[in-house]
Amino acid sequence: MKKLSILFCSTILTLYCIGLQAQDVDIKPWKYNINIELKDSALWVNLSLKITKAQKGQNDFLLFNRYIQIKKAILDDRPFEYTRSNDTLFFEAFQQSEMTLLMQYEIPCSMFEYSKTVASYGDSIYAYPVLFDAGQIFCERFNKWYPVLYDNFSDYCITISVPKTHKVFGYYPKTDCINSAGNDIYSFNCFDEDFPFFITQTNIFQQHKIIQHNTTNYEFYFLPRNRRLLDIVDRKPVYVSDVKQIDSLLSVIINRSMAAVDWYNANLWQQRIETLRFVETSILGLGACLESFILLDRSLMNMEVIDRYAVSHEISHIWLGIHTEYLAKGKFFLGETIPEYVNLLYYESWAGDDAFENAIQDKINLKLSEVPFYTVAFEQVLNQRKGSFQADDIIYHKGVAFVHEFRKLIGKEKLLKIIRETYSVPNHFVNLRDFEMNIKANGCWNEYLKLFEIKL
Ligand SMILES: [Zn+2]
Repeated sequence: MKKLSILFCSTILTLYCIGLQAQDVDIKPWKYNINIELKDSALWVNLSLKITKAQKGQNDFLLFNRYIQIKKAILDDRPFEYTRSNDTLFFEAFQQSEMTLLMQYEIPCSMFEYSKTVASYGDSIYAYPVLFDAGQIFCERFNKWYPVLYDNFSDYCITISVPKTHKVFGYYPKTDCINSAGNDIYSFNCFDEDFPFFITQTNIFQQHKIIQHNTTNYEFYFLPRNRRLLDIVDRKPVYVSDVKQIDSLLSVIINRSMAAVDWYNANLWQQRIETLRFVETSILGLGACLESFILLDRSLMNMEVIDRYAVSHEISHIWLGIHTEYLAKGKFFLGETIPEYVNLLYYESWAGDDAFENAIQDKINLKLSEVPFYTVAFEQVLNQRKGSFQADDIIYHKGVAFVHEFRKLIGKEKLLKIIRETYSVPNHFVNLRDFEMNIKANGCWNEYLKLFEIKL
């Protein structure tokens, strides 16, 4: 996920990819049945959760957004007793190997402004608003809109009922959509560590373009905008209202997106993508890759951002970064830094060597507003968690400079080979050990160790 900073390429990421299975036999997937209904100005949630106790340790807490009021909670036919602290819901450790939790609650969605609901990000040190409004609603795991335990893969069976005026985009393709009493009921099944979805009013999109390119159907949903930010020239915004100029800007976005998919297919590995949807939003301030669709905030839709490879960054997450330990452990090297570097390799392929070198130099010379110049060690990059703008700088810029140093030592092809071998294993939750094992297997360990001796 990309969030705009002054540099337009500082990012946060929440990404998701192909379904996988827990490789660790100790972790049994939890079974979620979630029925969601969009009614008036709230999402009504009915949830049943079958929790299997892990062999090691006791699950006696769940993460859940502290601002969501629980209306009803029943654990194995008895009232569920819990205490809440921060975004954690504690309960007494259970004795049986399995328990069923039923919960009912409402998530308010303001009709005219963002809801005041606040969620914590990652390990509860960074708070940002959950952006719900009646027009576009985005729910993803970091919002903790349902009780979760990180590090657990889950079976999800989800139905989302919306008025006919709305449409649901799910992380996984829908299994069914039926009409009932004026509502559309979408069904989804998935097996993953998350199930994000996006609800949007359908009549807000003015342009809906469908393009078949190679084996993929691309669908672009653009918001109607009579005036768009075209570019930033000499630090000044340039707006256009001419229909032809707006169309030509949108065409660049479409063509760059399709070219990025082609490049990742050719240089990482071939993915079967039947349909890929790009949905413009007005609520996020960032981009997010959600496997079968990509959300792009309207602030990302201009040449300044496109030339700074923000859209192709999101597309890279279809291949890289989603199923990594970052989600569970709050570390972002594998989840964001490496995808951003690969995105830069794509940038190098179309923008040329000089533009690429400049982009790397910009990252190394990154200046924080209060700190004129600073360096970090590789160790810090590997352990960097989310939580501040400086964290984003280290993840998306300084970290990328380290990956580039590694590439200078071992060559681009070797680096891509290691990345392919690390990330393309199906049904696997990628961690740093996998990356390091592949570095060793490719005879690059000594070069990797050199990264720990430098500061960038
Ligand atoms: Zn990202």
